[in-house]
Amino acid sequence: MPRTSTRNKSVVSYSEESDGRLNSNNISKSIANSKDTVSVAPGKVNGKRKLGAVDVDDDNHAQDTNQPRKRSAGVNAKAKPEDKTMPFANRTTLDSLKKAMYIGAHVSAAGGVQNAITNAVQIGANSFALFLKSQRKWDNPPISTEARDLFINNCKSHSYSAAEHALPHGSYLVNLAQVDETKATQAYNSFVDDLQRCETLGINLYNFHPGSTGGEPRPAAIGRIAAQLNKAHKATLSVITVLENMAGAGNVIGSTWEDLRDIIALVEDKDRVGVCIDTCHAFAAGHDLRTPEAFEETMRAFGEIVGFKYLKAFHLNDSKAPFNSNRDLHANIGTGFLGLCAFHSIMNHDGFRNMPMILETPIDKKGPDGKTAEDKQIWADEIKLLESLIGMDAESIEFTKLSADLQAKGATERSRIQDQVDKKSAKKSKTGTKSTKGAKKNA
Ligand SMILES: [Zn+2]
Ligand SMILES: [Zn+2]
Repeated sequence: MPRTSTRNKSVVSYSEESDGRLNSNNISKSIANSKDTVSVAPGKVNGKRKLGAVDVDDDNHAQDTNQPRKRSAGVNAKAKPEDKTMPFANRTTLDSLKKAMYIGAHVSAAGGVQNAITNAVQIGANSFALFLKSQRKWDNPPISTEARDLFINNCKSHSYSAAEHALPHGSYLVNLAQVDETKATQAYNSFVDDLQRCETLGINLYNFHPGSTGGEPRPAAIGRIAAQLNKAHKATLSVITVLENMAGAGNVIGSTWEDLRDIIALVEDKDRVGVCIDTCHAFAAGHDLRTPEAFEETMRAFGEIVGFKYLKAFHLNDSKAPFNSNRDLHANIGTGFLGLCAFHSIMNHDGFRNMPMILETPIDKKGPDGKTAEDKQIWADEIKLLESLIGMDAESIEFTKLSADLQAKGATERSRIQDQVDKKSAKKSKTGTKSTKGAKKNA
């Protein structure tokens, strides 16, 4: 548990009963709120945390998506009483949409995988992502027979196809490019365990971050990922391992389409590998999506380099950080540097049907008491917003106004992060830093 002290753990309970999604920002916030003076994340040094085997930038996915997590009683128990029978939005029937777009969010599976379905229903999601175990722990109890049966039954009763529209997210601890033999085995075991969990639950897609070179040469690291995948495919039956594109530079693998292509090229069973495009990561890594023309060009490059037959899912996130900044900071749809037009392009692209489209946008809101609480209404509204873009005329007054309103909403946050990025690059050009953060993407 490198990110938090054991003392923190007692303040913010996220282990057993939680599916583990939280970030150290939130830990510190929660701790501050609880008036506890515990210091945060001893592993965090100079803006970089050593997260198990993987180097993770401070603005890493796990930290900044503000994904939901179970809070301890005492911190926020009374902030928002949750009545699971009260939906934030009703699910849109697919027939009523102009095309079959399955939009959902990465929901909590706290208390058991079966709860992910209740949580998805509650926000009107037609697809969902979840963690199949705590993603910050190596050792996890297996899925109980009861949880498995409830998951399968809940999917059936709420008409979710687990095979097609559930997209579990892998553990942040796992780095399949790990060079150290013991650590590589540990990563592999955790990875295969997740794949087996998928197969237990009838899930056919499994999304994960490709990994980090750890400073070793890139081709060899890519070779190690592919070798681990080949082994994992042989150890399981059918689940498709879905590589997520990444935002970062330096040691991170998967920020370029070429990285993904090179991994896939070495995978023996091509039917068992796919790609999930995270819009925030793509944009931060230098793949523009802001205008229809930029979107087409990016998609053309993806098709040419990776191939659309591998595209299995999307993570729909706007970006708080500017283009090509290599920072992974998810923003609410339309409020970030991507803007609503990018999502209009996605919603209206003909090829993207029938795949899970997962929001990983922030839903933490500060209440009048200064405490942070989840507001799932945000996801419910974003799902409806994205669905409304299908078939909407991007030249219409309706769209222009919607787009401008959302941009206004995110203006302060965008300029805050832009300042950070500017300061960092000014500092870099002044000192000639040897940080790998700004290294060429194809390095
Ligand atoms: Zn991310
Ligand atoms: Zn993502």
